[in-house]
Amino acid sequence: MLENNYKYKAGSYDVVVVGAGHAGCEAGLASARMGLKTLILTTSMESVADMPCNPNIGGTGKGHIVREVDALGGQMAINIDKTFIQSRMLNTSKGPAVHSLRVQADKVKYHQVMKKTLEDQENLDLFEQEVDKINYKDGKIVSCETIQGAIFDTKALIIATGTYLNGKILIGEFEKTSGPHGLQAATYLSDSLEEMGFKLRRFKTGTPARIDRKSVHFDKTEVQKGDREVIPFSFLNEGEDFSHIKQENCYLTYTSEKTKEIIMDNLDRSPIYGGFIKGVGPRYCPSIEDKMVRFPDRDIHQVFIEPESLSTDEMYVQGVSSSLPQEVQMDFYKTILGLEDVKIIRPAYAIEYDMIDTRKLYRTLESKDYEGLYFAGQINGSSGYEEAAGQGLIAGINAGLKIKGEDPLILDRSDAYIGVLIDDLTTKGTKEPYRMMTSRCEYRLTMRQDNADLRLTEKGYRVGLVSKERYEKTLGKKEAIENEIQRLKNIILTPKDETNKVLEELGTSPLKNALSLYDLIKRPELTYESLRIFDENRPDLPRFQQIQVQTEIKYEGYIRKQMADIDKFKKLEEHKLPKNYDYSKILGLKKESVEKLNEIKPESVGQASRISGVSPADINVLLIRLKTGELDG
Ligand SMILES: Cc1cc2nc3c(=O)[nH]c(=O)nc-3n(C[C@H](O)[C@H](O)[C@H](O)COP(=O)(O)OP(=O)(O)OC[C@H]3O[C@@H](n4cnc5c(N)ncnc54)[C@H](O)[C@@H]3O)c2cc1C
Repeated sequence: MLENNYKYKAGSYDVVVVGAGHAGCEAGLASARMGLKTLILTTSMESVADMPCNPNIGGTGKGHIVREVDALGGQMAINIDKTFIQSRMLNTSKGPAVHSLRVQADKVKYHQVMKKTLEDQENLDLFEQEVDKINYKDGKIVSCETIQGAIFDTKALIIATGTYLNGKILIGEFEKTSGPHGLQAATYLSDSLEEMGFKLRRFKTGTPARIDRKSVHFDKTEVQKGDREVIPFSFLNEGEDFSHIKQENCYLTYTSEKTKEIIMDNLDRSPIYGGFIKGVGPRYCPSIEDKMVRFPDRDIHQVFIEPESLSTDEMYVQGVSSSLPQEVQMDFYKTILGLEDVKIIRPAYAIEYDMIDTRKLYRTLESKDYEGLYFAGQINGSSGYEEAAGQGLIAGINAGLKIKGEDPLILDRSDAYIGVLIDDLTTKGTKEPYRMMTSRCEYRLTMRQDNADLRLTEKGYRVGLVSKERYEKTLGKKEAIENEIQRLKNIILTPKDETNKVLEELGTSPLKNALSLYDLIKRPELTYESLRIFDENRPDLPRFQQIQVQTEIKYEGYIRKQMADIDKFKKLEEHKLPKNYDYSKILGLKKESVEKLNEIKPESVGQASRISGVSPADINVLLIRLKTGELDG
């Protein structure tokens, strides 16, 4: 904490958000839109919705979160639909559970559009300040202070400090206290958090160099074009025509054996392998050094050259993040196919920063030790704009609901990817930056990106972030899909010659018995569209709804089984556990489980069952004690 005696009372708010990154923006907008007097503080207005790393939104698992943020009434999807420069649906050759939208953002425009959104938002103030102290009384948040001298009283404080908290960038032997790409680090708040008893750890992440487009030999690369038909991220834009958007290209190229040679020869000068970096890095966004070490048999690696914005010639070299010394970077970047004459505009670097142990948070993201204190985004150990936005929204909503005295919004593992993200972080914590992936979601077939609105819009409406009109429109969509599925069950085809002739033309086997269109759609070789020929009175459903109908029918069996699993899951979730209970009072629990239960203080038996070290036998003991009322006091 910066000792200064010129502090002054600067105002009183319902909610103060520390950070204007992807988490802070969603948190601030949510509480302001719920009618609460809200303030966003940031060390730099240039950091508003900044993309210090990959200039894209979405991708496997991340696209699901963006859609969920949208369905709940958040902002990220709306703004990226206004600022994307390339759009692709990934994994379309696989099942619908892993279809994921990924778009290239014009990161300069995305920042500008989000900053304007914040500036135009009623009930929301923005102020460029660095927070250095949190004040609390009897375990409850009362205010925060800035190094510039301001004191803001508040009922709720949301910490969304990203990669800035004691940020340190490293490029080989060079290191400097700094936030991303030269923005100022926040160097005081960590002391205040530690004084409050939060154990901080160091995580790290890295980014590649930015290169000059004019210095790239694109003829040596493979062009990657955007999809002809653009699928919007926001459900508000469903059916909108984006064909007028001129999409930018990305370019696929490869490292060479020479790249590997230079990197392996200089590994000892890398902060990671030279041992002068403490932070733990992301397994799923490895640096090029990591890849060379972890995949020794592979001589070359894919590299994607991506545009950052229409207003700059800087390009992002995806797949080559590094913290090797600059001179080494100059050498090995030139060995990448097409980059023989490359001009590096910004060197690659790694950044180390402070983060907290999220097992100290409820699934509302409120601290278990300080009432009214919430944490969201990278400070929680996650990695990614989308993961941050999802957490920011939930923290903002719950800060608002608590102040209004309303029930919290807790998304569980069967509701949403955001629910899985927060449950993993608050139940298990994380040993490295946590990136969302579809494989983390056991109920992914029912939690697809295409049905996020059907799953969550009602919750967004309940908390006051989704309008009645939008909610009713979603109810109408749900009903239309259900009616259509029912209608298809009632259209029965009989094994007549002309019917079977058409079926054979469609490449499927003839009917032996009467069958509904519903059952025919289940045949892998048939689709909702291909069976239109047998269905003259078909309602003119929008394309998005047709996809829903087909998916629900084709995967009906799997979905039904998953729904049964979800029922079992929810049963355990419904068994709530008391907040501050001393589990050493319970006979029959393993010693390790007592320690873990007392450390994490799970909110439900379901959450307890996901704590590593707590066995099914322990869960039975808890269920019995709950029944006998022993866990009441
Ligand atoms: C070099 C680098 C590489 C990355 N690589 C990847 C990657 O490969 N994959 C990936 O998924 N993600 C990556 N990221 C992470 C991605 O940028 C973050 O996940 C995302 O930006 C987190 O959003 P956030 O809202 O939590 O924080 P940020 O976007 O970091 O925003 C934090 C905000 O807090 C403010 N702030 C901090 N401390 C204070 C204070 N004391 N007082 C006032 N304001 C404060 C800052 O001004 C800023 O507005 C990378 C980030 C960096 C910097």
